[in-house]
Amino acid sequence: MESPIHCSIDLDATGKQVGRLELPRSNNTSGWSHLFIPIVSIAGDGGPTALVIGGVHGDEPEGQVAALRLARETEPAELSGRLIVVPCASPEASRAYTRLWPSGANLNRSFPGDPEGSPDEQLADFVTRELIPRADVVVDMHSGGRSGLCPPWSEMHLVDDAEQRGRMIDAMLAWGTDHHFVYIDIAGGGLLVGEAERQGKVVVSTELGGGGHVTAATHRIAQSGLANVLRHVGVLRGAVVEPGTSPIIGRATHVDNYLLAPESGLWETFVDVGDNVAAGDPVGQIHFIERPDRVPAVVRALTDGVVFVVRAIATTEQGDNVVVVARPTTVEELR
Ligand SMILES: [Zn+2]
Repeated sequence: MESPIHCSIDLDATGKQVGRLELPRSNNTSGWSHLFIPIVSIAGDGGPTALVIGGVHGDEPEGQVAALRLARETEPAELSGRLIVVPCASPEASRAYTRLWPSGANLNRSFPGDPEGSPDEQLADFVTRELIPRADVVVDMHSGGRSGLCPPWSEMHLVDDAEQRGRMIDAMLAWGTDHHFVYIDIAGGGLLVGEAERQGKVVVSTELGGGGHVTAATHRIAQSGLANVLRHVGVLRGAVVEPGTSPIIGRATHVDNYLLAPESGLWETFVDVGDNVAAGDPVGQIHFIERPDRVPAVVRALTDGVVFVVRAIATTEQGDNVVVVARPTTVEELR
């Protein structure tokens, strides 16, 4: 079935075009309406195509700012390939500064999507069938958002195909962050990156800091890293900047790397991002706001490693991730 989404620009034309995807909607204030999702295509002659997406989650502004600047500031003459940029994929969530859509949908659990499904599934389907297939490289920028405190990093899944994996490692390193992260999906499938990997693309994702605020340094590494990856893959002209120092690569490919709250309550962390911990070490505890007499529930590391994520919102529900402990790894091991 054809997508119900209308794209206002010809994605295969040369030059620079600023347009929108129109997603049919019907809400309390307008029975007949479309949700506009901006899309920018910038193309010279030939070369590889990069699909750059920001704002899949609305409380992650770092990637949206980087993508907005890339889309506005890049001209076709600066490209040796083509750029398709969707800077803010979930506009209603961005306006609300929430991770999820107002409907409760998580666009990053909606893939591969469905042209006859809910609006998020319709958008995912359009990305799956119309945007990803046009791309050689897919960049999907995320951050810890309001809920997770982490250093800025680029990240990847360990895909099975060795050749694809090798190209993804090289692209991940090209971001130039001090940290990189190799992860598994402990919170369900349906991710955009998973669909792009399934289609054999070179997929680069990020968690560009988080905790509900963005530092100037994080904005800089979001923008410089994105540009360097695009030079590395041959889309943007210019010399690739080699990362200066050897980065810390954290591998969290086991469920034990992701520590979950045993009960609901108020989270107190004992560790900060970058701390080394050993299995059994207490990393924090859950307090019970109605029970000052009750001993807090201590959360302990299940593995040795480095703290990569600490929960940023103190109010915590049972099962929420409170800390991620990653094992330092090497490029050689990942290949
Ligand atoms: Zn996200």
